[in-house]
Amino acid sequence: MTIFDTSRRDFLRNLLLGTAALATTGLDLRAQEALAQNKGRKLGVALLGLGKYSSGQLGPALRETKLCYLAGVITGHPEKGEQWAATYNLNKKNIYSYDNMEQIAHNPDIDIVYVVTPPALHPEYTVRVAKAGKHVISEKPMATSVEGCDRMIAACKKAKVKLAVGYRLHYDLYHKEMMRLAKEQDFGPFMKMTGDRGFIFGQRAWRIDKKLAGGGPMMDLGIYIVHGACMAANGVAPVSVTAHEEPKTKPELFNEVEETIRWTMDFPNGAKCDAVTSFNHSADQFRIEGAKGWMEFKQHAFTYRGIVAETSRGPLNFTPINQQAAHMDDFADCILTGRETPVGGEMGRRDIQIITAIYEAAHTGKPVKVKA
Ligand code: NAD
Repeated sequence: MTIFDTSRRDFLRNLLLGTAALATTGLDLRAQEALAQNKGRKLGVALLGLGKYSSGQLGPALRETKLCYLAGVITGHPEKGEQWAATYNLNKKNIYSYDNMEQIAHNPDIDIVYVVTPPALHPEYTVRVAKAGKHVISEKPMATSVEGCDRMIAACKKAKVKLAVGYRLHYDLYHKEMMRLAKEQDFGPFMKMTGDRGFIFGQRAWRIDKKLAGGGPMMDLGIYIVHGACMAANGVAPVSVTAHEEPKTKPELFNEVEETIRWTMDFPNGAKCDAVTSFNHSADQFRIEGAKGWMEFKQHAFTYRGIVAETSRGPLNFTPINQQAAHMDDFADCILTGRETPVGGEMGRRDIQIITAIYEAAHTGKPVKVKA
């Protein structure tokens, strides 16, 4: 028997033992095998930026994930780090600041860093994380410029680490159904799309600071409609856009960014999306129509809880899932198996390219071609 045969036999035996031990975890076979190959070790995630989304959604989701767990944090506030260590029973050596975060390079507990800061900072932190040799998830919008996205993609490619964008809706069952309908064309191609997403924003914060947010509701909320319309177009991007900004009702607050913006997106097959996003009204709806039927997200179209949706065949009633947990587990699975993430940097870059064209159209009052 060759050394190869022995080690292969041991490997398979360990794999099966690991798989048997994991069979009760509710993981599918592929994920069980991926975890067994990693000797049952879940991947460690460090959250960078401990604001509302991290504390309200991502931290709790990491209690539900099966292939990864919260291993550390990177924060500008040492007291927050202490609090998180107590809440999540973190090893104190895994608490980093923005000044010493390069040291994660030497920490085998941390495989993935999830960047959850204002968008303008995503490129800088992503590049630093990639240089430290760790995989990255960046929150949406991926950056405030296409150039920022390019830097993120290049740094991750150079460091041979994976990059994903926080597009959690790819894992939501209602949105998966939309993608299935778009692909299989039960209702024909979706030719008419309409979307409205907004909330009333009344305070000065980074979301209306152009330097940190890159824009107003378009960057924060409109991006969901841009992204959703590309999902409904079966992954195809629009070829041209038009846009106009509505007059401001609170010019003193929205002195750097738009308050409400309306836009259209024209797709290569003639499909059209009409949309509006605003920091001056509440809405979260999306409707898509084909020649043979339609799908409508009536409430919480792009939110993580409470989606109400139906198609021309009747109401949809999927069991809600934790979108953030599903997203992070899938990224961990991609790392463990060497698969490409379905929500990679190129997709984040595409959306910033579309949004850049929308802003240009609003600025010039003319239709703008979306660069391929
Ligand atoms: P937040 O203001 O609550 O938190 C931002 C965090 O970044 C804070 O901990 C803050 O201390 C830190 N930070 C680091 N450097 C900073 C700087 N120079 N200025 C300001 N803050 C700085 O914001 P949030 O709601 O948690 O949003 C963070 C990111 O997550 C954004 O990209 C946002 O679009 C995204 N987000 C995504 C979803 C989603 O559903 N995918 C939901 C909410 C937020």
